[in-house]
Amino acid sequence: MSEDKKIEKISGIKGMNDILPEQAALWELFENTVQSVLKSYGFQQMRTPIVESTPLFARGLGAVTDIVEKEMYSFEDSMNGDKLTLRPENTAGIVRAALEHNITYDGPKRVWYNGPMFRHEKPQRGRYRQFHQVGAEALGFAGPDIDAELIVMCQRLWDDLGLTNVRLELNSIGDAAERNQHRAELIAYFEQHKDQLDAEAQRRLYSNPLRILDTKNPSMQDLVNNAPKLLDFLGEESKAHFEGVQKILRHNSIPFTINPRLVRGMDYYNRTVFEWVTDELGAQGTVCAGGRYDTLFTMFGGKHTPACGFAMGVERLLELMKLNGDAEVAQSCDVYLVHQGEQAQMQSFVLGERLRDAGLDVVLHCASATGIGSFKSQMKKADASGAAFAVIIGEDEAAAETVTVKSMRSEDFANNQTSVPFDTAVDYLVDQIVGADHDESQCDNPNHIHLHH
Ligand code: ATP
Ligand code: MG
Repeated sequence: MSEDKKIEKISGIKGMNDILPEQAALWELFENTVQSVLKSYGFQQMRTPIVESTPLFARGLGAVTDIVEKEMYSFEDSMNGDKLTLRPENTAGIVRAALEHNITYDGPKRVWYNGPMFRHEKPQRGRYRQFHQVGAEALGFAGPDIDAELIVMCQRLWDDLGLTNVRLELNSIGDAAERNQHRAELIAYFEQHKDQLDAEAQRRLYSNPLRILDTKNPSMQDLVNNAPKLLDFLGEESKAHFEGVQKILRHNSIPFTINPRLVRGMDYYNRTVFEWVTDELGAQGTVCAGGRYDTLFTMFGGKHTPACGFAMGVERLLELMKLNGDAEVAQSCDVYLVHQGEQAQMQSFVLGERLRDAGLDVVLHCASATGIGSFKSQMKKADASGAAFAVIIGEDEAAAETVTVKSMRSEDFANNQTSVPFDTAVDYLVDQIVGADHDESQCDNPNHIHLHH
């Protein structure tokens, strides 16, 4: 009886995904594109811890929000009793860090982040318990210009990612006083129609009536459509701000629809709120959501610092990239080194280093559990690697100080291999690979030459 039969396998956590090597190229394409777009607008990256103290979210997001009520991974540190939470979003963490290090001391700052977030939700398509967000936060900016810039930047990102089917929904939720007025009217309206409210809406009636407008319950749609609209309660300043955002968007030819029922899940938002939505992903169609949060710094004990930001759901965007067909990215290398015999192996190591010095991506064949393998099996690996060239060093080549270069993509199978002196192999290959790449021209792929659409 085998001993390992008894060993129970440990699985990953439900709703938390492994991102496998075959998905890496798509993630890299996405992340490199994000990085270059954000950099081109002057945003600087920030990385804050995945764990924060629980009150940060309870206070920052609002006690009666979905996230704080039922989605947080909170626990007590068994070493010291600290109350901790795996971050469900990163705006609160960024603002905490911004305050702690006074990063806006010399004026407004544009920052961005990328990383995993954690929410205890029911796992389904587009909804996971660990998921990733890329977010941007413009800290210390008060005007409608930055709100519009964030949106224009998103549009550029969609364009660069080849996404065509995302549309912008926009709303203004005013300031606290305007919301309070509206809230009173809203509660009065829902009280009049209490029989039409579902259990969740009844529960939220006095705690967070604005969120009732966000209901997905079909039988409540008429009710919420006819409810008093926050937009009608905006004062002059909020109205002017909202107009300002729209004007810049129109000037930049960014189409949008105003959705008066658009509210956001967190308490910290005011004035501008927006969502980028697609119809291609089923129920989880919001790929990016954001808005202004002028009071969050003061809620955390800082001085008044107006701010605006967004967060996008990376998994949903990757799904959309796949659907848009622009995601046929495969990771491959330039050269696969095949060798036989000890001397050849040593030369392969040397050649590999020299090729990498010259900027090429090289995979050196190494022994597996069954050994180094025959030429034939090594060539199979070379083929599967997607390499442009296999470089073969057998015992004959090693003795003659030559290498055999075999083109893996040539149509002309009879004439696709050449003998090249070992010492000129680097020049030869660089010429073949970089030269060919130049001929193909407009290499607009930020991911270097080994990503192929
Ligand atoms: P939803 O209404 O879908 O629950 P939300 O309002 O909770 O979204 P935000 O907190 O605004 O979402 O997060 C911004 C974006 O992050 C969302 O638009 C979505 O793309 C993504 N996102 C949020 N929750 C998840 C999740 N559990 N799994 C995957 N992506 C998510
Ligand atoms: Mg949610």
